[in-house]
Amino acid sequence: MKAIYYPAWDQLELRDVPETSPKPGEVVLRVKAVGICGSELHGFVAHAARRTPPSILGHEFCGEILSVGEGVAGFKAGDRVGVNSVISCGQCADCRDGNVHLCRGNEVFGMKRPGGFAELCAVPAETLLPLPTALTTIQGALLEPLANGVHAVSMLQQRFPETVAIFGAGTIGLFALQAAAASGAIRVVSVDTHDARLEIARRLGSSTVLNPRKADVVASIRNMTGGRGADVTIDAVGAAETRRASVSAVRRGGEVVWLGLHDDPSQISGFQMVLGERKIHGSFAVTHRDLRTAIALFSNGKIVLDPWVKTFPLAQGAEVFLGLVKDPPDDYIKAVLLP
Ligand SMILES: [Zn+2]
Ligand SMILES: [Zn+2]
Repeated sequence: MKAIYYPAWDQLELRDVPETSPKPGEVVLRVKAVGICGSELHGFVAHAARRTPPSILGHEFCGEILSVGEGVAGFKAGDRVGVNSVISCGQCADCRDGNVHLCRGNEVFGMKRPGGFAELCAVPAETLLPLPTALTTIQGALLEPLANGVHAVSMLQQRFPETVAIFGAGTIGLFALQAAAASGAIRVVSVDTHDARLEIARRLGSSTVLNPRKADVVASIRNMTGGRGADVTIDAVGAAETRRASVSAVRRGGEVVWLGLHDDPSQISGFQMVLGERKIHGSFAVTHRDLRTAIALFSNGKIVLDPWVKTFPLAQGAEVFLGLVKDPPDDYIKAVLLP
């Protein structure tokens, strides 16, 4: 089978690899669509220890079941399915508490096991979700990143926050924006250093867009909220700078959600946290429920993918990936490969 193979640091190539067959508890999918994730681009550039070659990347995918391994119930060949990118052990204290996405023994496609940049991919049955026929394969592949945005919004204790500021208008930022709007955010502000991305954020419902290269973001957010700050800020970048701004831009008693993973150490004001009783929620990966919410959002027309998602044949995958590593494109944000 054809796969975009990651043989060594800084290399990626279309290659014929041996076909996979399902182990007990697994199915093999014919991959129909697979997204290229920013975390993979970042991991590729940074030689991330979490994503070590040789491997096959790709954790945002959907497909059709080709074969079913021993002991799999509830799924059969021909079923269209989406996939949860995180596979949990099911045994540890976190799994037993119901926080399967926090499992310390977890595996992620494209990390400890081969991912979806391939014609076929072996997938444990417990990560599968049936896809309604109304969902396109592109939507099926984007369930996971949409569910990341849903998960971030699901952290919030506030209902109908008046102002939500979202740092980052990449894939996760744009999904968080649409998830926030669908869940009752009254006004969404998007922040990004690329004007083309901000233009898309505006088309998807942001009433105000701010470019930190041109405006003082924290001052602007305070100005539009009578000096208070936003009710909620969401950092979908994860840079030390955006983390600091996300705390400074939120009002006293407000909530901050961090889900970007760009930098690790980040300096924020302890006084702002304590004296203003601000709260920071970490948001990692997705739950099964977030994925079902993502299906419902797509099914009910709440999520716009035009004009920022672009598809390419799998054969062009290495070229597209390496291009994205060099420069973010101006004419789209998310690349989806079609095997
Ligand atoms: Zn991802
Ligand atoms: Zn576990």
